[in-house]
Amino acid sequence: MTQKFTSDIVIGLEIHVQLDSKTKLFCGCPTRPKPGVQEEPNTRICPICLGHPGSKPTANKEAIEMGLRLALALNCSVSSRLIFSRKSYFYPDMSKNYQISQYEEPLGREGSLELDNKTIGITRVHLEEDPAALIHSGSCVLVDYNRSGNPLMEIVTDPTIGSPDEAREFMRRLLSILEYLKVYDIDWGILKADANISVRESSYTRVEIKNITGFKEIERALDYECARQKQACQEAQKIIAETRGWDAEKGYTYSMREKESEEDYGYIIDPDLVAITITQDRIEKAKASLPELSQAKAKRFQAIGVKQEDAKVIAADQSIAILFEEVSKKVEPGLAAKWIRRELMRVLNFAKRSLEDSNIKPHHMVDLLTLVHEKRITDQTAQKLMERLVEKPFDIKDVVEQESLAKVSDDSLLTDACKQAIAQSPQAVLDYHAGEEKALNFIVGKVMAATKGKADPAIVKKLMIGLLKV
Ligand code: ZN
Ligand code: MN
Repeated sequence: MTQKFTSDIVIGLEIHVQLDSKTKLFCGCPTRPKPGVQEEPNTRICPICLGHPGSKPTANKEAIEMGLRLALALNCSVSSRLIFSRKSYFYPDMSKNYQISQYEEPLGREGSLELDNKTIGITRVHLEEDPAALIHSGSCVLVDYNRSGNPLMEIVTDPTIGSPDEAREFMRRLLSILEYLKVYDIDWGILKADANISVRESSYTRVEIKNITGFKEIERALDYECARQKQACQEAQKIIAETRGWDAEKGYTYSMREKESEEDYGYIIDPDLVAITITQDRIEKAKASLPELSQAKAKRFQAIGVKQEDAKVIAADQSIAILFEEVSKKVEPGLAAKWIRRELMRVLNFAKRSLEDSNIKPHHMVDLLTLVHEKRITDQTAQKLMERLVEKPFDIKDVVEQESLAKVSDDSLLTDACKQAIAQSPQAVLDYHAGEEKALNFIVGKVMAATKGKADPAIVKKLMIGLLKV
């Protein structure tokens, strides 16, 4: 069975994403604490999410709708019947001793997610409830059921991811889809994964890492585990099929237990939850309501003259993509894309701000880029204005006028500045005459500094070459 793999590394992911519904999957408890309130453990609970005898779960319509949209965005075929099953296991994080999940008929199956050079199959997606949080405190373990019963979507990929890098690309794409669909809150919602990893050298003996929490940690754990298996094989140690944990603090995986199979969970259909029919009509409506996703957007951006890499990066972030669409109605799309991706996104990143909290609106970018396009300010000036915009937006035209930031292209002014720079750089002049082209940039740089970046660098360079010939 293992011979079918062709790549050196084989990774399959089971990702759990918290759906951002208002209430839990089977009861009316809110999924989040009240804003601004420091929540006490075990206060956001009820007999249903605790599984008290006689309590009856009812499936949450909003969460199902979110799950349905996600299944469709991942190109899954959707089951016409929604049934839930009990996944039995004994562990303090499940007070019922079973988790309500889906097994026999998942919400979606046989989907796909497209990467740059490869398509990763989605084996199945299903809905299930989140267990409680276990809090390790000294020699005791405490249980907090507040998040118990929150809706999760489990996404299981085919074992065809060929490297940790590919897994990273897959996770980025998935996050972008979640953002576009507005079914997941990255600042609040849970994202955890189990990963199956095997390498050619061990004849693809499958090792599972359980419960890796957060996007960054998934990357780290995969990097570590691939390296560990390769190294062990090199040293002729045997890789055993087992379940391992990820210690985020120490940065390594450790052996937990030998692996159990899905059959060990003794699934039975939950008799408390009636089967829900998902009509073709409902599926079609959900499909029609899906927003245009990043890949389709990127293709459209490329068609209007945006470079492939710029198009991809801009489309991956929904709010940046919306800004670009507005700006490119008034500014040449290639120019808009170049400045939004290489300058605006860089500056936002550096200031650790999102576009929303920077308050930059399309008209700011349109004003700025129109001045760049008409060559009325230099690229340097535009970059500086961009940095200030991210801090606090202002009227671009007013500031350019008030602070006289317009580009200096007056030849006599610039000639004077060039002469001064030449006088100040005797060594660079000698180097330039000795054939060192780079020395010219140094002298041009002096003029740019003296004019606070307002000189037109192309003109300065031309003047300088002329002056240095004499
Ligand atoms: Zn509840
Ligand atoms: Mn699960």
